Amino acid sequence: MQDKVKILGVNIDNITEEEAAEKTKELIEKSNKSCKLIVAPNVEFIMQAQKDKEFFDILQTAELATPDSVGVILAGKLQKKPFKQRIPGQAYFRKILETAEKEGWTVYLLGGKGDIPQRAKQNVEKLYPKLKIVGYHEGYFEEDTEEVVIEEINKLKPNILFVALGAPRQEKWIAKHRKELKVDVAAGQGGTFDYEAGNIKRAPKWIQKIGMEWLWRLILQPSRIKRMIVLPVYLFKIIFTKDITKSRWEK
Ligand code: UDP
Repeated sequence: MQDKVKILGVNIDNITEEEAAEKTKELIEKSNKSCKLIVAPNVEFIMQAQKDKEFFDILQTAELATPDSVGVILAGKLQKKPFKQRIPGQAYFRKILETAEKEGWTVYLLGGKGDIPQRAKQNVEKLYPKLKIVGYHEGYFEEDTEEVVIEEINKLKPNILFVALGAPRQEKWIAKHRKELKVDVAAGQGGTFDYEAGNIKRAPKWIQKIGMEWLWRLILQPSRIKRMIVLPVYLFKIIFTKDITKSRWEK
């Protein structure tokens, strides 16, 4: 059984980056194009899941949930179930691309504005020259384009579909189309394509190390402040709630 930590009802796997890659490999090998779901919960996910039951339920169906933020790591410590490692979205993405290059897996990138997914593809192909990114599509499409996008993905049948439409839209999109998507795994990938395209700079390593990357992102994208209002509420909840493993849906 996989070691899991539950934060306000959301299950998150207690695994290292290496183990996450192994688990992804396992999922791909047994999937047979059944679209296994991979998510990367952070504080915003957990708080959104407290008010959005549909999102909460989708997160519970994920076959792999990687710990993606310092807030998640902190809640693990408070429960005396420390996470082995934080796995930032981009680190997981790179690790999977590296493995994909070795294993010969095919990859599709869905999401990001305009030419972001194309630029992200070009940049990561420089890092992994044998990697097979078989297709991409930008992420601001109307419902009527949706069918065309799904048709293209299904024609290509990639092993991995990375979906970067922001949370919870990306997870809801995958859940809605899970039955028709002919991919082995689909992973919600947030802002990673923006980083890979060189559109947004990641924090210097030392800032990442001291757990202040969120502040760096806030300085670069001040509009994120609205989303960050949930942070103090989250801290209050995980410090003062009697049982922080439970969601409001279970009480
Ligand atoms: N995005 C998209 N379609 C949408 C909404 C968002 O493709 O309808 C993209 C957006 O351009 C960005 C990513 O989804 O590249 C979400 O990034 P965000 O910073 O919100 O993700 P986080 O890393 O915070 O989860």
